[in-house]
This record gives sequence, structure tokens and C-alpha cells, in this order.
Amino acid sequence: MRTLPPAARQALDQAFAYSSVASHRRREADGGMTIKHLFKLQDARTIETVVMRYEASSRSRERTTICVSSQVGCPIGCSFCATGQSGFDRNLSEAEIVDQFLHARRELAAIDRTLTNVVFMGMGEPLNNYHAVVAAIRRWARPDTLNFSPRRVTISTIGLVPFIERLASEELPVNLAISLHAPDDDLRGSMIPVNKKYPIAAVVAAARAHADRTGRRTSYEYVLLEGVNDSLAQARQLARVVRHPRSHVNLIPMNPIEGSSMAPPTRARIRAFATTLQEAGISTTVRATRGLDIDAACGQLRARELAASPA
Ligand code: SF4
Repeated sequence: MRTLPPAARQALDQAFAYSSVASHRRREADGGMTIKHLFKLQDARTIETVVMRYEASSRSRERTTICVSSQVGCPIGCSFCATGQSGFDRNLSEAEIVDQFLHARRELAAIDRTLTNVVFMGMGEPLNNYHAVVAAIRRWARPDTLNFSPRRVTISTIGLVPFIERLASEELPVNLAISLHAPDDDLRGSMIPVNKKYPIAAVVAAARAHADRTGRRTSYEYVLLEGVNDSLAQARQLARVVRHPRSHVNLIPMNPIEGSSMAPPTRARIRAFATTLQEAGISTTVRATRGLDIDAACGQLRARELAASPA
């Protein structure tokens, strides 16, 4: 606002916060196509947000996806996740979720790109912060704000059944991604503690009901861990579990976490797992791993920052 005198600008600057998130660290990978932000909040806590650009191909249009956080840390505690290992501080406010989007949007405008998709796959379990997440999606969608369609938003959940059921009744046509990661309750329970409360059959039933009611796709996220959940028998079992006209499986080779004994399978094994699913009639993709050199998996950059500067 350069038309105002400097004293007025300074007074405004002191009286108002322009954004509830401030850039603290910013790292690029994949030739600048992946950008990871570590944002500082007004209480000095930090969260991660990742922006991924994809060029147009013969099969898809150019798109830019933002992966937003919904909580500072996460209370779910999955064994393979850096965020889960660093504990839980608090929920994000609606403004803190909205502002991750706005910050990225301003930065992309400088290179003539715009955000096309939002995924709630950053730090936190979005359905554990239900009100703020739904309010942020509704705010992005308002014609007098961004007019950003909920159809371009994907909520990724570990499978909190009552909230999936509630989401289905919201008249909010978002896509649902279920973090499944195992085809049976014994294995899933050992990786994801909340599986004891909401076993696979209940989660899949709620996801199917959401898909039937909204017409949106359910994508089952499956982090492939060598020797844990990557056998062909497990692929066949997974196909039986997720079978539904609107189901899709997204295979994610694990991003290595420092100090973890878990590792991604070989490429050949990943291909064999994907082929087994496809031959069983399940729509399947293998997610391209992005930003390995910038700790792009959820929680890794923040964990490194916390370790370097303990409170
Ligand atoms: S995988 Fe998701 S739900 Fe599990 S600990 Fe990490 S952020 Fe939380």
C-alpha cells in the first residue's frame, strides 16, 4: 500500500497480521517443481506445507497441488510416519489452514501458475480437526472468495468412521483418501493404533457409503514397506478388501525416515504388486516419489528442525 505514508503503513503493520502463517524455511527439489514450506505460526509453532507442480502430458493437464497440514503434529502415532513420531501440539484454526493456500497462491502467481488441487495429506489427521477443515473448504469454495470447487479437494484420513459418516451428509463433494496401508486387521493394528477402534471392514463400509452418497472417488493409500505389506498374497487380499466401482488404490513407496528400520521395496516388487492389483480389476497407480532430497514426507523437515533447535 505505497500510497499511504510510511507512518501509517508502520501503524497498520503493528496492528494487524496479514497472514496467520509466515515463511520460516523454504526448500526446493525436483528442479523447483516441488517446494516445501516450513511455516511459523503466531505462537511460534511450525507446520509443513508442500506445493507440487506437474506439467501437462498426453494423459493429463498441467496441475499444481498443495498438500496442507491440519494439525501441529498428530495424535494418531502411525509407526511409519515422522509426524506421528513427534507427538501432538494442537489443532490448526480455519485461518491457519486457509492461509497455507493463500501463501502458495500468491507465490505461484509470480510464475503465472495457479493451484488446481488441494490434498489434506500434510501433518495431522484432518477429521480430528473436523470443524476447521470443513470451514476452510467452504471458505475456499465461496463465490466471493476463491470459488475453488470442493471437487478439487481430497481429505485423507486414517479412517475415523463417525466423521466419515458425518462428512457424507455435508453436501460437500470432496474426494476421500483412506490411509489403509495393510489388507488385514492384525498388520494394520500393529502399524496404526486406531485400527483397534475402527477396523478395516468398518472403515471400508463408511468409505463406500461416502462414495455412493457423493459420487466422488475413494482412493486407498497404501505405503509400501519392504517385507511388511508388499507380498503378492497381500496384493490379492487388498483387491478383495477395496473392490467397489469408485475405488482406486494409490501405492506409495515409503519415503525413507532417518533412524527407521523400514524401507521401500525394490522397483520390480512395486511393479509386481501394482500389476497384481490391476489384474484383479482394481484401478491402481504408483505415486511418483517427490522431494526425497528435502525431507518431503510428512513431518520430516519439521522433525529435523525440532532436533536441531530443541525447545
Ligand atoms: S500418517 Fe497421518 S494419521 Fe498417521 S501419524 Fe502421520 S499424520 Fe498422523
